[in-house]
Amino acid sequence: MSLEKILIQRSSNECELCGSEENLSVFQLPDIMENGAKTALYACNTCIMQMEDEEKIDPNHWRCLNESMWSEYDAVQIMAWRMLNRIEADWTQDLLNMLYLDAELLELAKASGDGEEDENKIIHRDVNGVILEHGDSVVLIKDLKVKGSSMVAKQGTAVRNIRLDHDNATYIEGRVDGQQIVIVTEYVKKI
Ligand SMILES: [Zn+2]
Repeated sequence: MSLEKILIQRSSNECELCGSEENLSVFQLPDIMENGAKTALYACNTCIMQMEDEEKIDPNHWRCLNESMWSEYDAVQIMAWRMLNRIEADWTQDLLNMLYLDAELLELAKASGDGEEDENKIIHRDVNGVILEHGDSVVLIKDLKVKGSSMVAKQGTAVRNIRLDHDNATYIEGRVDGQQIVIVTEYVKKI
């Protein structure tokens, strides 16, 4: 039986990650030498595009892993682990904490380099430890003097569409009263 036939049967002709029934094809897991059903997925175009290009990842699409990461098949578990590592969010951390891969699978999963620089990764968190992402909105939890001006950003001010300082987890930037200012993450709360 061809690999595709095996996968069609295994998946009941659905994307093994998100359950879509359209535009399905065989996806061989990258960075793994071994070929065959153990290291291949039957997946939809949407999933494949985002697995191949990190820039195209739509985090919400991958909420599907909530269910599919419990698949009995190695390839699905490996790819779920990789994608969860690529998306920085509280919910992906929660799922990763629950997703147990045995040593052999974990090694295969890590072959792509995912999950490796966790210790060095810069993660911005608000006063409650909630992860902040580019484009989030926050509210100031105290009055803040703005450096180099007489302006005071008032407690309770909402700051929309924040930018993250990629070199420093303590700082974000946002617009207050029409002015772009640097804000310390411990003085904001995500809204
Ligand atoms: Zn899919």
